[in-house]
Amino acid sequence: MDQAPDGPQGPEDQGPRHARSLPVCHRHPDRETGIRCTRCERPICPECMVDASVGFQCPECARGGASRPGGGISGVKRAPEASRPRTLAGGTITADPRLLTKILIGINVAVFVAVHAWPSLLDRLVLVGAWPPAPFHSTEGVAEGEWYRLVTSVFTHEAVWHVAFNMLSLWWLGGPLEAVLGRVRYLALYLCSGLAGSALTYLLAPSPSASLGASGAVFGLFGATAVLVRRLNQDMRPILALLAINLIITFGWKDEIAWQAHIGGLVAGIVIGYAMVHAPRRRRALIQYGTCALVLAAVVAVTLLRTAQLT
Ligand SMILES: [Zn+2]
Ligand SMILES: [Zn+2]
Repeated sequence: MDQAPDGPQGPEDQGPRHARSLPVCHRHPDRETGIRCTRCERPICPECMVDASVGFQCPECARGGASRPGGGISGVKRAPEASRPRTLAGGTITADPRLLTKILIGINVAVFVAVHAWPSLLDRLVLVGAWPPAPFHSTEGVAEGEWYRLVTSVFTHEAVWHVAFNMLSLWWLGGPLEAVLGRVRYLALYLCSGLAGSALTYLLAPSPSASLGASGAVFGLFGATAVLVRRLNQDMRPILALLAINLIITFGWKDEIAWQAHIGGLVAGIVIGYAMVHAPRRRRALIQYGTCALVLAAVVAVTLLRTAQLT
């Protein structure tokens, strides 16, 4: 069974928690946290939480436990798979917990540079096959079977402010999420959210709507971060305020911004994020990847439906 991350280990764990009274992570003094290592009782932030057989441990204690012959504290039974330290969501702990976020940012920046070097590339990458959007192009692209555009549009930006804003958000939200989820789960969350944003845009946006950008995936990271913050009993207000500001911008400029991509990504991020951090340990991977598969099935269904309408 999954154990709550905050057992009754210290006086600050009782009663309603206030952000100011929280201790800071012993490895990251700038991060407040309500969680302590179940072995040494030092405070640990989500990035430092290792999913041990009993609660969560700091990386030092987890390493100590895993390297012992037999791999466990005497008297505590360990399942063989639990003897390897894992992240909160069951992912593998890596030396560079933000490597994939860096690679994703690198791909986005490379595509941004490429479409400015060869502007005709935009026509090939955006959701609907014309940039700038033109009425006579309205059914080009996905409707003609170019499904790859559901993916490529997520990595394509045309305006500097657009790529800068999305990449800053990706770094702030994606870095911590990658550390907590592990690389494979994080990549699944990112791609499924981006695809859900593309699919909802394809379904609802009035044609012609070329639509491009990582915003759907970034809103997915928003949704998953909100779920994670709630799961860790941390202060929800900063993430909710940031999300509210982004939604106000989304709907305040909804003529220029594909709100469908933001909402599609956000909903997918909340659903997948919930599965990632709440799945019971016994069938964890099945529930986590099964939820991603359900989101992908919805993407396929929505795309087929809209293509049938357009052609
Ligand atoms: Zn410890
Ligand atoms: Zn930490």
